[in-house]
Amino acid sequence: MKSYVFGPVPSRRLGFSLGIDTIPYKTCSLDCVYCQLGRTLKKTIKTKECVSSSLILKQLKKVISSGRKIDYLTFSGSGEPTLNSKIGEMISEIKKITEIPVAVLTNGTLLFKKKIRENLKKADLVIPSLDAVSSSVFEKINRPYSSLKIDKIISGLTKFREEFDGKIFLEIMLVSGVNDNSQELKKLKAAINLIRPDKVQLNSPVRPPAEEWVKPVSLNKLKNIKKLFGKNCEIIIPFKRKKQTAYQKDLEKEILALLSRRPVTALEISNVLGAHLNEVVKYLEVLEKKKRINSKIHQSKRYYGII
Ligand code: SF4
Repeated sequence: MKSYVFGPVPSRRLGFSLGIDTIPYKTCSLDCVYCQLGRTLKKTIKTKECVSSSLILKQLKKVISSGRKIDYLTFSGSGEPTLNSKIGEMISEIKKITEIPVAVLTNGTLLFKKKIRENLKKADLVIPSLDAVSSSVFEKINRPYSSLKIDKIISGLTKFREEFDGKIFLEIMLVSGVNDNSQELKKLKAAINLIRPDKVQLNSPVRPPAEEWVKPVSLNKLKNIKKLFGKNCEIIIPFKRKKQTAYQKDLEKEILALLSRRPVTALEISNVLGAHLNEVVKYLEVLEKKKRINSKIHQSKRYYGII
């Protein structure tokens, strides 16, 4: 049976985060050029119960009762979690069984819809993203579903802030030469003033992106942007907990054994080893840093191999 719950995985922002995946692989309202999961396969804004919520809750209860250290239950995964129409009900059910806080990682594009805002209000922490304010930059970096307009998205985020009592961390992914020019940064600053998030988190692609041409901005530039955005702004740094008990050497070995046979994609590793794609992506990142593996794009797909 497919597992919709993965981890806990060490997260840069959330400590030990137990991931909840409510969406089929790469179903999203955007097709971001920096997406670590590859290109979007189904671009949509239509919500539905794509995965059985009772099955997800059953799997979740099992992991929670195992007593493993979990700092957050996090809706994230293979696409945009708000596209699952039952996300609000799922959060309400989770609140009945545990006090572990609930976070939702979302691209924020659907918050202009009242029902989506109602669903997310039940969470403790919502982390929406906003990478652009100009339509042309939005189109270039996020490649949205055709009817999505950035002005409407920003007013959805602003409305959500007015209605939501929990915390909002607004994530901005900066891609060199795309949304890091002074004009766009000034517009982003004005949008932040409207949205009033509790924190602004600056990020830049550190994992292999969907498009090979995507490059991160330098740390120096990130520091200057942080200054421009003011005191609630932080740069997301790599996870630095001393004891990463969530990291399993066995899974690392299995990944290396698989790659020693032939180059494979992250999705193939996930399918063969039965580990969630997001978990696999994090292991691949560690192995690339250790210079044990490398990756190459071939026919629009990223393949990993042993060095
Ligand atoms: S980064 Fe997030 S919002 Fe963008 S395409 Fe990937 S899953 Fe969708």
